[in-house]
Amino acid sequence: MPSFQLYSPTDLRDALKFKESEGEKVIVLASGTDLVPRIRKRQIAPSLLLDISPLQDDLRYVRQSDGVVHLGAHATITDLMESPIFRERLSMVREAAEKFGAPQIRNVATVGGNVCSASSSEDLIPVFLALDAQVKLISATRKRSLPLKDFVIGKRATALKPQEILSEVFFRSPGGNYWSAFVKLGRRNILIVSLVNETLVLSLEDDMLTVGSVRIALNRLAGRVPALAEKTAGFLRGRRLSDATIAEAQRTLASELSLTSDFRGSAAYRAEVAQVYLKRLIRRCAARISGG
Ligand SMILES: Cc1cc2nc3c(=O)[nH]c(=O)nc-3n(C[C@H](O)[C@H](O)[C@H](O)COP(=O)(O)OP(=O)(O)OC[C@H]3O[C@@H](n4cnc5c(N)ncnc54)[C@H](O)[C@@H]3O)c2cc1C
Repeated sequence: MPSFQLYSPTDLRDALKFKESEGEKVIVLASGTDLVPRIRKRQIAPSLLLDISPLQDDLRYVRQSDGVVHLGAHATITDLMESPIFRERLSMVREAAEKFGAPQIRNVATVGGNVCSASSSEDLIPVFLALDAQVKLISATRKRSLPLKDFVIGKRATALKPQEILSEVFFRSPGGNYWSAFVKLGRRNILIVSLVNETLVLSLEDDMLTVGSVRIALNRLAGRVPALAEKTAGFLRGRRLSDATIAEAQRTLASELSLTSDFRGSAAYRAEVAQVYLKRLIRRCAARISGG
């Protein structure tokens, strides 16, 4: 393991001052489930780590107020699994959490670490994209919020400035007759690196047939970057759900995917799976909305 210096503040203001003064040199360490293996493999060689794990009072929470769900950066995957907020219509979050790694990983891996990793295999990014989530970024001198879709700007690249840390992911609960669902394919049943993950938030008009709002996100829609399937959502919006509509939506999805092949699976296989998953997700959400 390469050597590095570790700064472990117990006060958020102290952490932010440190980040401000040391700037780009400092890499944030949350629980290290992504970072530490990368350091071990010498993919990165940070000289200075800022350990934010002692800041749980400020950064670890899962709560809802006035229809807005707030997830502190240090909320763990187990925290998501255990929250009553994700038992019903927002069950997509719980489904993603339940399929995440294994219990040891879920107990420590954090929401902020997942989003800031900005890797194509991360499971929460598509979930939060489909929920139109925003991220709260804080430094010693300012706070700002940014839509998640503008935060993840490429593979392992975010809009985080050197003096900032991510403090929260938040989103408004969708309104109307809606449900959400998540599905993931890997090469085994636990400790899965996603070949494809796909998320849907769907709402139906009061006739329970016509699509109201719809957001679909995939981990690799644009090559190795998670993104929203905007063309497919645009096609579905306002249409009555039928086998023909879903089949056309599947073709639209195939046309907007820009997938890549790697040792885990080919682009063609991923595209096939993504289309099958779209149908399953639509059927699952529609059935739940109608009380099925
Ligand atoms: C065995 C195993 C299984 C896994 N399974 C899954 C899985 O099923 N699904 C999945 O999505 N991922 C999985 N992962 C990857 C990893 O667990 C997740 O990405 C996790 O959410 C990272 O959280 P962390 O707290 O460990 O982040 P860390 O490793 O501490 O940090 C990750 C990155 O985010 C940055 N960072 C962290 N927090 C902040 C912050 N608040 N502000 C600014 N930057 C920050 C760090 O600098 C680093 O670049 C797995 C990893 C392992 C080792």
